[in-house]
Amino acid sequence: MVKNNKEIRHDWTNDELLFIYKRPLLDLIYTAAAVHRLWHRSDEIQLSTLLSVKTGGCPEDCSYCGQAARYHTDTPVHGLLPIQTVLAHAKRAQEKGATRFCMAAAWREVRDNRDFDKVLDMVKAVNGLGLQVCCTLGMLTAQQAKRLQEAGLYAYNHNLDSSASYYKEIISTRTFDDRLETIAHVRRAGITVCSGGIIGLGESTADRIAMLCTLATMEQHPESVPINALSRVAGTPLADQPKVDTWDMVRMVATARIAMPASMVRLSAGRMEMSEQEQAWCFMAGANSIFTGDDAKLLVTPNPSMDDDLSMLAKLGLKPMLPRTTARTEKEDEYTCFQG
Ligand code: SF4
Repeated sequence: MVKNNKEIRHDWTNDELLFIYKRPLLDLIYTAAAVHRLWHRSDEIQLSTLLSVKTGGCPEDCSYCGQAARYHTDTPVHGLLPIQTVLAHAKRAQEKGATRFCMAAAWREVRDNRDFDKVLDMVKAVNGLGLQVCCTLGMLTAQQAKRLQEAGLYAYNHNLDSSASYYKEIISTRTFDDRLETIAHVRRAGITVCSGGIIGLGESTADRIAMLCTLATMEQHPESVPINALSRVAGTPLADQPKVDTWDMVRMVATARIAMPASMVRLSAGRMEMSEQEQAWCFMAGANSIFTGDDAKLLVTPNPSMDDDLSMLAKLGLKPMLPRTTARTEKEDEYTCFQG
């Protein structure tokens, strides 16, 4: 099922991925760690900083999100930040070791207006610093994707969140197919794709696997696959969901690593509720990127600070990934095969 060479498969089935996800945990981690070492440096973690450039007041109804205008949360609301403020954040992040800077706006979709023009200017300016620039702005048309690419955008984040069949249980204001359409526009424009999901939304294991399978059977895998644990925000419909079991996160990370070996697997939301030891298991299972930053927030939810993260990485003997180093070029480790 998993071959001992550097082949990337795009023909995974739900059954195969479920088989992998359910392997005895230590066997699963062992195999994922071996795949990780075949494709990536195992001593590097990419530090990405995520800045909310427009916060709150969103018309969508994502049931996990504190930025949806319809829920009564403590999330502050602000319009588009000035470009100088964004640049100052990006420079600080870069000085501390971040190589990727993501700008998020709580929009349903991009509109062709002055705010979009300002975002394009932000992309140009941050790109000029030598950072990988990512945006997450909601749905895009093909033309808007092209304009972002021309401005120097490196990556666009558009998560699938969950499976196609569970999607309507968590969001009613857009469809799973809308998500796929924007991802297709991004891909065609020549921008790399960042797309993953969230666990802890009340979904089944089959939903988690179906979400991974949608990503792993894309013609080109997303270059970046964020795996999020639900951050339970008071006032949202999912505020009372149980905490995600860390071993479920480890299984998701490991399955993503095995299915999409060349991709960056991002340990994203939920780290605030994980100890350093629990995060280390995720790194062992193949996660090689985290979101971190000075303001100890991931958009509007708490996140470890950059200093805490640098301290954790030092304890684990890991170091921040250098700019634009990703996949390994040589096979350096053997790894065992699953006999499915
Ligand atoms: S996740 Fe994004 S689209 Fe959904 S409500 Fe929050 S800001 Fe809006």
